[in-house]
Amino acid sequence: MKTVFPAQAPTLIPVVGSDAAFPVRRIYCVGRNYVEHAKEMGFTGREDPFFFCKPADAVLYVPEGQTGELPYPPLTSDLHYEIELVVALSSGGRDLTLEQAAAAIYGYAVGLDMTRRDLQGVAKKQGRPWEIGKAFDFGAPMGPIYPAQTVGSMDQAAITLSVNGETRQSGNVDQMIWKVAEAISYLSGLFELKAGDLIFTGTPEGVGAVVPGDLMVGAVQGLGELKVKVIA
Ligand code: MN
Repeated sequence: MKTVFPAQAPTLIPVVGSDAAFPVRRIYCVGRNYVEHAKEMGFTGREDPFFFCKPADAVLYVPEGQTGELPYPPLTSDLHYEIELVVALSSGGRDLTLEQAAAAIYGYAVGLDMTRRDLQGVAKKQGRPWEIGKAFDFGAPMGPIYPAQTVGSMDQAAITLSVNGETRQSGNVDQMIWKVAEAISYLSGLFELKAGDLIFTGTPEGVGAVVPGDLMVGAVQGLGELKVKVIA
């Protein structure tokens, strides 16, 4: 059927070693999934997993070796970085077992869960949704997807972020409270997961603010580097 205006093109993420791209359906994010980050946010690290979403078109795709430009978002004066392992699904379902959850993984990428921390803080205090703190335009920078077939298991991998050459976050994905398959399994009890879903799996401690002119370099061992400059 004709559309009354041109339908928006899907968000496509290139796949390393392939001519085909990964079409993004939804972006789910796991909150407070590393103990030390949960503690720095004022929690114990023993709470059940919880999730929020970003729109698929919030992705700022940055090719390996290039530097992406992230426009400083409006109405904040406390824009935070959160370096994260991103999991890309090529199948889905409801109430997945851990084994089914693991089998749904297509690949992995490095991502940044950018956060308007001041707006998120107000929302938390007022018991309001987190969208304005999390789901803004360009709020999900990420690099290309590495197929699981080529990178293997991501149970253990250094995860780091530097700002202007200074290390700010340094952890290992093995410090996740809810491991990747556990998070997918839990999430599939809340939503029917489908091919094209991305899951940002949480950040280690050391989150902090960036301002225009700052250069962030994030990395997950085996998945390359994600370089993003904040611009005015
Ligand atoms: Mn996060």
